[in-house]
Amino acid sequence: MGIPARIAAKVGWYVMKNRLLMRKRYPLVLMLEPLLACNLACKGCGKIQHPAQILRQRMSAEECEQAVVECGAPVVSIAGGEPLIHKEIHDIVERVTVKQNRFTYLCTNGLPLEKKIDEFKPNNNLIFSLHLDGMRETHDRSVCKEGVFDTVVDLIKELKSRGFLVATNTTIFDDHTVAEMREFLNYMTDLKVDMCMISPGYAYEKAPDQQHFLARERTKQFFRALLDKPEKRWPLNQSRFYLEFLMGQKEYECTPWGNPLRTVFGWQRPCYLMASDLEEPYVPSFKQLMEETNWDLYGTGKHDKCAQCMAHCGYEASAVSDTVKHPLNMILGGWPTLPKPKKKLLQKDREAALMQADAPAPEVSAAASVASPATTAATPGCGNGSNGGCSSGNDAEAVATGSDASTSTNEPKSF
Ligand code: SF4
Ligand code: SF4
Repeated sequence: MGIPARIAAKVGWYVMKNRLLMRKRYPLVLMLEPLLACNLACKGCGKIQHPAQILRQRMSAEECEQAVVECGAPVVSIAGGEPLIHKEIHDIVERVTVKQNRFTYLCTNGLPLEKKIDEFKPNNNLIFSLHLDGMRETHDRSVCKEGVFDTVVDLIKELKSRGFLVATNTTIFDDHTVAEMREFLNYMTDLKVDMCMISPGYAYEKAPDQQHFLARERTKQFFRALLDKPEKRWPLNQSRFYLEFLMGQKEYECTPWGNPLRTVFGWQRPCYLMASDLEEPYVPSFKQLMEETNWDLYGTGKHDKCAQCMAHCGYEASAVSDTVKHPLNMILGGWPTLPKPKKKLLQKDREAALMQADAPAPEVSAAASVASPATTAATPGCGNGSNGGCSSGNDAEAVATGSDASTSTNEPKSF
């Protein structure tokens, strides 16, 4: 059985078990952020803008394992920040994949892996999830550093030759074109990437660049145009029903507890993308997160910050629950089949959709954008959002390491 099918089987069984036990809310993917520091400084990033003392904080390997046990989700996504610069990352991965037997996405921008690849051994539960926001020019602009795309492609080849499972994680912004994304998916397929995750970007309030996030209507246009004629061989790693939701063919309510986040501050509520503006956005235990959060306050139509959200971390769990609700849905929506457009676009409509999806977005002021932020990429992978202009130096790294920003080189560092 291929890896997406193995994950689907494990998750499907877990969801059915919880439904039989009549549990109303249960987690599917634990988002684990053992640190917020990163060796890159993408301007759209919602994680690295914290002050130096926070960027220096780390969850220990033991705390990470405890979070996995507490949460109980069958899949874990280790993100950040850049998890490979955590000096206990090897221990964390061992505890999660081997001791706790969880499917684990180890999310990375790739650069630190060049030096750390020998520390890891292929493992059926370990998937390296590489952040790639598009082809060379787009990705290097996105991460504010030339040459990163080529490094990541070389790493994908190296990881595959060593027998590792490899995924890519792509955040879509308004300057992505459908044509480029098709080219990207074809290229990743040729590289024998096991899974590709694509997700609309979420307008993190802390991200300096607020101009390039997709709103709901543009997200739907983009995915409709992209998936109107999908290549059957693309290894997309989303449930079919979630892709249909992105195409505007299904409506779901957000289920933010499906992808809970344990970060250096504790358990974040309500979701991976947004810390509540109410008192106590973080709680010390998973139990408190589940039992003491007023979930009715969140989701599109309920909260300003959720208005444009179609994020994986809010809506994939809704789609998966729908998939296992009924045997027919399981046949129709079984992961990882590609969605079928409800009605094939006529050639002229397809061209119009492509033009619409590829047209530059109307300018929005930063203030308006913050007031009505868009969606996420709480994807397994560095889904922190990373588009837009670049900062002049790598301040985040300098802050996290105490080094001089002017001499920062983006070289991986251990902490
Ligand atoms: S978007 Fe990812 S790679 Fe870029 S600075 Fe943030 S954590 Fe690092
Ligand atoms: S709609 Fe999006 S931002 Fe709002 S709670 Fe759900 S996942 Fe979080």
